[in-house]
Amino acid sequence: MLSAASRPYIDASVPVLREHGLAITTHFYREMFAARPELTQLFNMATRPTVRSSSRSPPPCSPTPPISTRRRPWARGRAHRAQARGSRPEAGALPDRRPHLLGAISAVLGDAATPDLLAAWDEAYWLLAGELIAAEARLYQSTGMAAGERIAVRVVRREVQSDNVVALTLSAVDGQPLPDFRPGQYISVEVTLDDGNRQQRQYSLSAERGLPTWQISVKREEGDHATPAGAVSNWLHANAQPGTELAVSAPFGDFAPRLDGHRPIVLLSAGIGITPMLSVLRTLAAQGSKREILFAHAARDGRHHAHRADLAWAKERLPQLRTHISYEQPQAADVAGRDYDHTGTMPVAALLDAPDNRLFIDGEFHLCGPLGFMQAQRHALISAGVPVAHIHREVFGPDLLDDLL
Ligand SMILES: Cc1cc2nc3c(=O)[nH]c(=O)nc-3n(C[C@H](O)[C@H](O)[C@H](O)COP(=O)(O)OP(=O)(O)OC[C@H]3O[C@@H](n4cnc5c(N)ncnc54)[C@H](O)[C@@H]3O)c2cc1C
Repeated sequence: MLSAASRPYIDASVPVLREHGLAITTHFYREMFAARPELTQLFNMATRPTVRSSSRSPPPCSPTPPISTRRRPWARGRAHRAQARGSRPEAGALPDRRPHLLGAISAVLGDAATPDLLAAWDEAYWLLAGELIAAEARLYQSTGMAAGERIAVRVVRREVQSDNVVALTLSAVDGQPLPDFRPGQYISVEVTLDDGNRQQRQYSLSAERGLPTWQISVKREEGDHATPAGAVSNWLHANAQPGTELAVSAPFGDFAPRLDGHRPIVLLSAGIGITPMLSVLRTLAAQGSKREILFAHAARDGRHHAHRADLAWAKERLPQLRTHISYEQPQAADVAGRDYDHTGTMPVAALLDAPDNRLFIDGEFHLCGPLGFMQAQRHALISAGVPVAHIHREVFGPDLLDDLL
């Protein structure tokens, strides 16, 4: 527990640190990567503030520092992401980061960073680091794999799902069934880029649990005149063919809807955010679930609507399944009523207001998609009367400030 002497310093400085969050993280990453260049292989450098020069907005991230000692639930999610990356907090990463964090606070706050304030943050740092190390130790035990251990897999199938998404089916090189996972979880995929740089990214498992193989579905992040194309997604699109070998982590992630409940379940996704929802839906279908299920998805148009055959597959097995597809800008080839149900962004409030769908208000809601989509849908759900505790989400981007610890 934080000491009584430190508490007032922490309480008083959290709003100030939040205000200067970007400056602190920028300073922190710059100093940390200068001191520990090998860490650039563990982090996605394209989404760190030190290396992003463009004004293009980064993937969704949490703007709230996890450094308030009153906010504990982040430790579990942070532990999942750290382990998926293969970092080893107990082996030195956390102690090594501490001086860079305190240095960044000191540099950004200047004279306001008094010795007492820095001592209070030092104490808070160790408290949170201890919590994180304990959360990671529990997680290592549950996966049975050592920190940073990778599984050698081979691509056994490649399917083009839309203009910019390919689905890759992976099987273990040693022929053993791949480890079990909870639908909603993701794996880290590690590749050696053409310049020799080794990088890893996370991809949600997009098929059902219980198969000997895994499937991931990768959206190609295109660049433009101002921004380079995404490194790993383009590498996978160009190189991952049947026979290609990849190194992947065990499945991680605490976004894993409970499938054994009886309440209605609502899966809302946009774009590539469909992947964890597919795994959930396909698993419910494979289990012959009797739950009421509403699956709503938003895509740009038919050419960007990945995995549509999966919905037809699931409908055959789940007669109670209701689906709703929104296309933001349908093209001439897209047929209303056949390919999509609604033009524009997903109208979640109207959807829940339809007489047939009212029962879903008491359901469990799961969201995944771009930040704007998730903010808008969450707001609409709360306005429609859905309790906040029933809304869960997955973020396809770094929680940047997580890395301070
Ligand atoms: C839990 C989780 C699950 C995920 N699941 C999936 C999934 O199922 N499917 C999927 O496709 N993705 C998923 N992602 C996203 C995935 O991990 C990658 O972030 C994504 O593939 C982009 O990686 P990249 O290496 O291609 O792009 P990066 O090289 O990391 O670039 C990211 C973006 O930044 C831009 N960029 C790069 N460099 C710069 C620069 N210097 N300045 C400005 N902009 C720049 C790129 O154009 C790109 O849009 C998931 C992420 C998480 C955290």
